[in-house]
Amino acid sequence: MATPNTTPAPAAQAPHYPDQVTGMYVLARALKNVGIENVYGLVGIPITEAAYLIQGQGIRFVGFRHEQQAGMAAATEGFLTKKPGVLMTVSSLGFMNGLTATANATVNCYPMIQISGASDPTMVDMNMGTYEQLDQFNTAKPVVKAVFRCSKAEDIPSAVARAYRAAVSGRPGGVYIDMTTPALGQVMNREDAEKLLYQPVDVYSPVAPNQQSVDRAVEILSSAKRPAILLGKGAAYAQVDDKIKTLVEKYNIPYLPMSMAKGLMPDAGPLSALSCRSTIMKEADVVMVIGARLNWMLSFGKGKWNPAIKFIQLDVEPQEIDVNVPIAAPVVGDMGLALDAILAKLEGKTMSTDPAWLTSLQAETKEKNAKFSARLQANKDASPMDHWTAIGAIKPILESNPDIILVNEGANTLDDTRDAVDMSLPRHRVDCATWAIMGMGIGSAIGAAVATGKQVVAVEGDSAFGFSGMDFSTICRFNLPVTVVILNNGGIYNGIGVPLDKTSDPAPTTLDIHARYDKLGEAFGAKTYYVTTPEQLTQALNESIASKKPSLIDVQLAADSGKESGHIGYLNPAPLQDITV
Ligand code: ADP
Ligand code: MG
Repeated sequence: MATPNTTPAPAAQAPHYPDQVTGMYVLARALKNVGIENVYGLVGIPITEAAYLIQGQGIRFVGFRHEQQAGMAAATEGFLTKKPGVLMTVSSLGFMNGLTATANATVNCYPMIQISGASDPTMVDMNMGTYEQLDQFNTAKPVVKAVFRCSKAEDIPSAVARAYRAAVSGRPGGVYIDMTTPALGQVMNREDAEKLLYQPVDVYSPVAPNQQSVDRAVEILSSAKRPAILLGKGAAYAQVDDKIKTLVEKYNIPYLPMSMAKGLMPDAGPLSALSCRSTIMKEADVVMVIGARLNWMLSFGKGKWNPAIKFIQLDVEPQEIDVNVPIAAPVVGDMGLALDAILAKLEGKTMSTDPAWLTSLQAETKEKNAKFSARLQANKDASPMDHWTAIGAIKPILESNPDIILVNEGANTLDDTRDAVDMSLPRHRVDCATWAIMGMGIGSAIGAAVATGKQVVAVEGDSAFGFSGMDFSTICRFNLPVTVVILNNGGIYNGIGVPLDKTSDPAPTTLDIHARYDKLGEAFGAKTYYVTTPEQLTQALNESIASKKPSLIDVQLAADSGKESGHIGYLNPAPLQDITV
């Protein structure tokens, strides 16, 4: 961060190492004690030394170019590992940049902890105009699950332990710790500091649902004629893959995954109803919602849904029940324990499923898949390429490398990639999620690679990439096995409206159709490609994946590929007539 004209006063006394330490040391040790392996952040006053000490504890410190992306990385680690990802930032603007990601994590039920350096609260409270003055504690409060402030080093171990518990327990979410300069700089004897540290017991305690709720759910499920299971990212997060597989396969229940639950059960499996979303909504008589919310993405559970439907809902959050529609059978508790109880109760029972329900869903799937293949086939040789041409080349490569984590954001790039690429392993798809935000891609790709050690491919729209592109530098500095594929149609939704002669301002949706994003990758030493045909894209992606090195593929699409997404096109005016490609 910028150096202020007058730097904040140094700690009253400097510690005499090794006999004395500061609160920063206590923080590093406390994080290590709760099992934190990675910290994502961006240093500056007052956290720089803390980051060194964290590294000194053997924790990986992944330094970013923007705090929001560091936060997206921490959140992604949370989703993929069920342990809180940790973000560390400086005060004021660094804190605010990071808070965007922590708020997003909270909305998406990803566990993460944001720790930001903060001004002396006594000065903030009196509005004394201290360095980077901001009441961060109260700013964070409404958008995260819990907030803590450490005003003295003695509070740090308990703040870290409690933040961990708050992040992972019940409905997971983002937690904020205000790490004030006095606490960070507090000098103490090493011996006294060591005595503060403790090993918290049972940081995650799963809570079982009550048996009555399980009995009710099983009664309704087993008497359904047209049952279905709706899998959400909460089910993916819970890491209960085998139990879900048993429930689906033993009782022959078709399943429909939400975007980030794709692959929890194979998208192309015989009971997958991925292509039959509207049929499930219209015709299913019982739907078991597992770790998903009946929010805007599911038409709030009404309207398009069968009015006589009975929902069974498995969720850890009691307040999620009845949010938009009455739930016939809520099962509130930890997903693993809930599924154990349901499977035990189902044992020996027979389902009442109408066999025609399964055959009709399978026939519909076959028909839809054939239409989809025809569409990809029809656009196979488009020149310049459109989204379907490019995605047609990407699809077989990702599907034959199922262990690659796919990060995906954009408008058309998101919608079309999600629809086209079948996933076959759980927790291998990370995207814009509940808030449908742009600007999560590069940070999430880094978090996924660091947290799992796996290879990552980020398929990005050019607009989406713009939010986080500079952190491609972080992929390169840490030599991560990440390939970024940018589908460049020169704009938000599309790139029509480019005034080539630059005699007038571009349309609000216009970006850079002629931009060479590959050159940006080159600046940081990555292997890069600029491709204009599907054959070149296939070769570039195969090569990048084989290299396991940072790489960037700039895919040139036509400026008129893509449309405004989100079904609200009627709200926006048509592009101006006199501004054409
Ligand atoms: P999607 O976007 O895929 O529909 P949501 O994020 O809307 O998924 O919903 C996820 C749901 O999963 C949340 O309501 C959350 O409370 C729930 N959930 C998360 N973790 C668990 C868990 N371990 N056990 C039970 N429910 C969980
Ligand atoms: Mg675009």
